[in-house]
Amino acid sequence: MKKRALTALVAARQKMINAKKAEAENRLVAAFAMPDIRDAHAEFVKTSFACGMSGTGRDMAENAHAKYIAALAAHGYAESDFEFVPACPICGDTGIAGGKPCKCAEAEYVAYLKRECGLQDRALPRFENIDVQRVKNLEQRADLQKIMGWLKAYSAKLPNVKYKTLALLGGTGTGKTTLAGAVALATVERGRSALFLSAYELNSLFLKCHTSPIAQRDGILTPVTEADLLVIDDLGTEPILRNVTLEYLLVLLEERLRAGKSTVITSNLSMKELMARYQERICSRLSERGTSQIFCLKGDDLRR
Ligand SMILES: [Zn+2]
Repeated sequence: MKKRALTALVAARQKMINAKKAEAENRLVAAFAMPDIRDAHAEFVKTSFACGMSGTGRDMAENAHAKYIAALAAHGYAESDFEFVPACPICGDTGIAGGKPCKCAEAEYVAYLKRECGLQDRALPRFENIDVQRVKNLEQRADLQKIMGWLKAYSAKLPNVKYKTLALLGGTGTGKTTLAGAVALATVERGRSALFLSAYELNSLFLKCHTSPIAQRDGILTPVTEADLLVIDDLGTEPILRNVTLEYLLVLLEERLRAGKSTVITSNLSMKELMARYQERICSRLSERGTSQIFCLKGDDLRR
């Protein structure tokens, strides 16, 4: 996803550079359609050539150059109008410097990355816009604030984080999905890839992979395997498909853990209920000491 975003950025920048070069070229053609500009330029070329050959007549050449500049100015042109001058001295407007997005192109890169991650059409919240003051229960507010602070710091450090698997558990409307969404958005805005999928959507991907001919399977699960951050929202609401749901989920969680990628799951189920539904091997990935962190969000439904 990061590679595709970078490719899109470079292509867009190249298109812009080509357009600017074409504009400069068109201005040159238009200016040189003016006889006085054309004549003044011819005179300048003639005198500077003679000066170069003989080493004398520098004054004449400079004089001819000044006349050429004046002829341009009379029609509203300057010499620099005819060449492409990049706005960014670091990347020459290509958007890429040292194999990475240039500073001047960070916002553009994030926009492409958001598109590649499929986050563009998901209205994910920013941490800054989550209004904890709306939570009337003071204990619930304090808890939420604490968890939010932890997650905000987490997304800022990614991928250099100790806990690779996070589980946000709690009843309906306690803010799990909002927080997980904010982690995903903050991650992408820092130039890392992040996917936000409901457990149902992820399950559909598993099924698609499972029912595709072997040769076509490659690539179906690549994004969910390779994303720097994967959010699996509402685990427990998807149907359990035999030979698919549990099997693929376990492999995915293990593969991501092995590769040092972060996974955030949210669920209405308690750890005990998750254990009954997903069995021990999956649950131990979610609750492993040292690599996993579980947050229990208690309290009232905040959407009411
Ligand atoms: Zn640049």
